[in-house]
Amino acid sequence: MRNWSTMTAVPAKHTLHSGIFHPVLREWQSPNIEITVNNLMYPIFVSDEENAKDPINSMPGVYRYGINQLEKMLQPLVAKGLQSVLLFGVSQHLEKDEIGSNADSTRNPVVQAVPLLREKFPNLVIACDVCLCAYTNHGHCGILNNDGSINNASSIQRIADVAVSYAKAGAQIVAPSDMMDGRISAIKHGLAVAGFSNKVAVLSYAVKFASGLYGPFRDASQSAPKFGDRKCYQLPPGSNGLAARAAARDVAEGADMLMVKPGLPYLDVVRHTKDAHPEYPIFVYQVSGEYAMLYHGAQNGAINLENVLNEILLSMRRAGADCIITYFTPLILDWLQPKSKL
Ligand SMILES: [Zn+2]
Repeated sequence: MRNWSTMTAVPAKHTLHSGIFHPVLREWQSPNIEITVNNLMYPIFVSDEENAKDPINSMPGVYRYGINQLEKMLQPLVAKGLQSVLLFGVSQHLEKDEIGSNADSTRNPVVQAVPLLREKFPNLVIACDVCLCAYTNHGHCGILNNDGSINNASSIQRIADVAVSYAKAGAQIVAPSDMMDGRISAIKHGLAVAGFSNKVAVLSYAVKFASGLYGPFRDASQSAPKFGDRKCYQLPPGSNGLAARAAARDVAEGADMLMVKPGLPYLDVVRHTKDAHPEYPIFVYQVSGEYAMLYHGAQNGAINLENVLNEILLSMRRAGADCIITYFTPLILDWLQPKSKL
């Protein structure tokens, strides 16, 4: 593996072009408080089972899609104005190992899906989640030492390699979700050396809390840790200070855009992050547990989904979110369609 940290073409925090090379990315630099198609990113689970359309029990209405299902699923959404997607690979057959070799092998479903989506939907912005946990046999987001702790140095080199592979496949955004120290810098240098510094943006999961709301996602991506938990690299829920430091760290390392995750329980952090870094687009991830709570609340008649979801989306925008990553995107796109005149 190469040591990206010693190689640089342009200092990473001065590469502004990587945040504005596409019209959709430019929209994110110009916030205002309303919900439009520009404010939505749709997360998609891409399975290595080619023809799959597998329902996810803990997230009704959400599926794992095989590569052969993607065009059919996305066509109507793009027609309704979908601007961007965030791809997560799901390994149901690929073998897992200590370093997550299949995170960027040619058999990886994301590596295979990206060129197809770029060809079929040339105006759709493709973001790829970058992490190892779906491909490691221990289920952690990095490479481990013998004692089970994270080996940060080797983790960020491996994560940078994966990010470069996704860029080579055609991803316009790479989004590292591992929360390792120094990975933004390593990825930025890797992209620069590979010639992508002005063609690929880095969306950092900068402020990611160790949340109980990720349960359904781990069901979807089959990425629960085999032992221990992720509290040594994700942030404690009460930690304002670490949240601010994490965002500042990733800005200093050259992130183009920042994310706060989960969304609704952390809107104060969204506001702090936007106020501290007004120059940067802020993403909020409305995570799987938030989706499930709203879905079941509406199903059981406790809330009206359209009213409450719209209110929550606006609260995220008001708190400073420029883009919301949400599993409700198909439904919201329907609501945003012009009403036919009587
Ligand atoms: Zn992970």
